[in-house]
Amino acid sequence: MGFKERYERTLAEAAACCTAAGRDPRDVRVVAVSKTVDANAVAAAIAAGAHDFGENRPDSLAEKRARFPQETWHFIGNVQSRRIPDIVRDATLVHSLYQERHVAKFDAAAAAAGRVQDVLLEVNVSGEASKSGLAPEDVAEMLALCESYPHVRVRGLMTMAPQGDAARARACFADLARLRDDLRRDLDADRAAVFNELSMGMSEDWHEAIAEGATIVRIGRALFDDAFEGPAHA
Ligand SMILES: *Cc1c(COP(=O)(O)O)cnc(C)c1O
Repeated sequence: MGFKERYERTLAEAAACCTAAGRDPRDVRVVAVSKTVDANAVAAAIAAGAHDFGENRPDSLAEKRARFPQETWHFIGNVQSRRIPDIVRDATLVHSLYQERHVAKFDAAAAAAGRVQDVLLEVNVSGEASKSGLAPEDVAEMLALCESYPHVRVRGLMTMAPQGDAARARACFADLARLRDDLRRDLDADRAAVFNELSMGMSEDWHEAIAEGATIVRIGRALFDDAFEGPAHA
């Protein structure tokens, strides 16, 4: 099976998950995480109909976006201060903002580029030490901080669930959805209208994520890797 078959099957399954959850399939965007593949594989993915790609390193983001500027590029990696201007140049949506000290830097870089940077706040819902992100109780304060910067616009929340346990992953996704809903309640209507994204779910757990309200799933191996077997429970 090639990318095209895997992609089409994934879109069909995602639509079925939406329907089962009483959701509109148009409310979920599949981001193809291309961080492990080369530009030829991205070209094949585009030919198969994919238009959203995720990268976790500024250099490969820059290279691939320069080659395919018409596609939508997502930055999903760890943010390093000195690379913020590069990330702003190339990323439509940054999924992984969580450090307070980076907010002013994103604002300045976006102002210099003459645009507003859309971002998601990364939340460490599971509390695992190996994961980065804000503690859930710190997200409201971070959101308030971002509000004071006119060139940074927080579109929602992102998380990575613990791997290998579908039930735990699902609980994590439910917690993130609840947190977004709680935060939205305190925003005025204009702000609430743009603070609606939930980036959650990867190759092994995106079905659970859609069931819990994901609006963006980030899928790498299940799309690009021939050898990916799928989660044990599938
Ligand atoms: C690599 C990566 C993904 C995709 O992971 P797969 O398990 O290959 O689907 C999603 N999100 C982030 C933040 C990643 O780094």
